[in-house]
Amino acid sequence: MEERMLFRTINLTRVYRTDEVETLALDRVNLAVREGEFLAVMGPSGSGKTTLLNILGLIDQPTDGMVYFMGVEVSRASEREKAALRRGNIGFVFQNFNLIDELTVYENVELPLLYARVPARERRRRVTEVLEQLGMAHRSRHYPRQLSSGQQQRAAVARALAVRPRVVLADEPTGNLDTLNGDEIMRLFAEMNTSGTTFVIVTHDPTYASYADRVVHILDGRIVSESVLKERQYV
Ligand code: ADP
Ligand code: MG
Repeated sequence: MEERMLFRTINLTRVYRTDEVETLALDRVNLAVREGEFLAVMGPSGSGKTTLLNILGLIDQPTDGMVYFMGVEVSRASEREKAALRRGNIGFVFQNFNLIDELTVYENVELPLLYARVPARERRRRVTEVLEQLGMAHRSRHYPRQLSSGQQQRAAVARALAVRPRVVLADEPTGNLDTLNGDEIMRLFAEMNTSGTTFVIVTHDPTYASYADRVVHILDGRIVSESVLKERQYV
């Protein structure tokens, strides 16, 4: 029996075209992510990590190839279909946070719960809990511009976790944090992974990658190597 795959890409290719240049950001990537897995993606700057994560997160589309999410081929799905698949299933931590400037930290974290139609009382419970977990409770009424980049990053992580998604896709989620705070976030991810949440994280840091079950290395848009750090039984 085939193991349950949350994601599967087949010859996933992404070309960016501008007036002057064509960039092959992803070049026939074949990648499968199991339900319950903790995967780290590593590679130098410009190698295609963000592009890969954006496509897995249904935020960007492949130029060629196929992408399956929860068994559904999504590369040519409509925006509406993709939004429906994302909602409640995917928590995304953007490399540049993408917090909404006009909303407080609390409101930013609450927003995906509003979209998911979580009732008010439950929303309050979850936002409060996740802000506590990330040490951001005392900043809940602040606006993003009033925060350090490390605090903005923790707010962005809180927003991704609040919906209790099936999978968290995080693009360098510790990139703006010192070692202590970075470790804290990775431990939180590891704990959630133990309770069944799938994680795909992009990182430059081998120490953080060591939290993963498996690491794939990407170079010039291709997966060039893979190492399995932990053998696990997945649900
Ligand atoms: P990484 O996250 O590994 O640093 P990216 O996925 O951001 O890499 O970028 C991969 C390649 O695609 C790079 O050469 C980058 O310059 C190019 N690229 C990324 N986004 C765009 C875009 N919106 N338009 C044109 N080129 C892009
Ligand atoms: Mg990137």
